[in-house]
Amino acid sequence: MLCPYCSREMEKGLIQSPHEIAWLKGEKKRMFGRAGLYGDSVVLSELNFVKGSAVIAYLCRSCQKVIIDYADARSDCSARHVSADD
Ligand SMILES: [Zn+2]
Repeated sequence: MLCPYCSREMEKGLIQSPHEIAWLKGEKKRMFGRAGLYGDSVVLSELNFVKGSAVIAYLCRSCQKVIIDYADARSDCSARHVSADD
């Protein structure tokens, strides 16, 4: 993937967590419950009790940006339809 800011090639990697990884609208931290409980939330990686959660992310070191393409269902490494060697 090319960086949309500088057009350099981005580095593919993972953002990992022992918890669900989600984007929540606004700047207020939500300490309790899963993202699905909150309107406008986007779950980026479902909670997997065995492996934890992980989502594919692309890094640009020049611009110091990280991009997650959640339109691509394969981005969520915890989703059940994804094979381990994908
Ligand atoms: Zn860049």
